[in-house]
Amino acid sequence: MAEIRLENIRKSFGAFEVIKGVTMDIRRGEFMVFVGPSGCGKSTLLRLISGLEDITSGTLSFDNKTVNQHAPSKRGIAMVFQSYALYPHMTVFDNMAFGMKLSGSTRGECRQRVEQAAGMLQLSPYLDRLPRQLSGGQRQRVAIGRAIVRDPKVFLFDEPLSNLDSALRVATRLEIAKLHRSMNNTTMVYVTHDQVEAMTLADRICVLRDGVVEQIGTPLELYESPNSVFVAGFIGSPK
Ligand code: ADP
Ligand code: MG
Repeated sequence: MAEIRLENIRKSFGAFEVIKGVTMDIRRGEFMVFVGPSGCGKSTLLRLISGLEDITSGTLSFDNKTVNQHAPSKRGIAMVFQSYALYPHMTVFDNMAFGMKLSGSTRGECRQRVEQAAGMLQLSPYLDRLPRQLSGGQRQRVAIGRAIVRDPKVFLFDEPLSNLDSALRVATRLEIAKLHRSMNNTTMVYVTHDQVEAMTLADRICVLRDGVVEQIGTPLELYESPNSVFVAGFIGSPK
């Protein structure tokens, strides 16, 4: 069963159509990567899946239930952005526990989940620090930890590594791959314009061009049999 199904999804801002009829499935537990040039609609598509933007037409379903009208908080998703937007006056622990506290978890539940996520992300020594006392890579891991503690069914990542320098980008990419392996049934949808990230993280890659799906396939399928020069240019050539 598909975890997430998009059927002829369209999105316009005023008269400007940005997503032009996208139909695809994202399977349970899959690591799906959206790639494509700047402005092709990657972030918009993620925001439609998350519910942060309303769909203009088409059907979005999770586990065969239509969620077009469901509020973001009811979709069982967590989103990690490029700008991690931590609360500057709160400790790492409180940043990670904040969403859980809001949804009524006890202090004990918060502590247990935060400590577990911190362990997964090598953040255990830093729980009492403030964000400004961390490196950029550590801060982005806190943002990922904040998503983990909510125990989502689906993680959405929008270019989470693009503010990091190249060494940290590689390290954090490996963390994300490890996270996916350790969370078997968690579906991950990941947006990037970085071809290496796409090739190394993805179970399948969806190449978007101007609001339309050009091709979906495994990294190897896209590499070996791109169905257009556009896909070949995006996947096959070194950055
Ligand atoms: P990507 O993430 O692939 O770079 P986006 O999804 O951010 O692309 O944007 C796709 C197109 O939609 C761009 O032309 C962008 O200017 C436009 N767009 C995105 N959000 C809005 C908005 N809220 N209002 C108007 N236009 C928007
Ligand atoms: Mg974007």
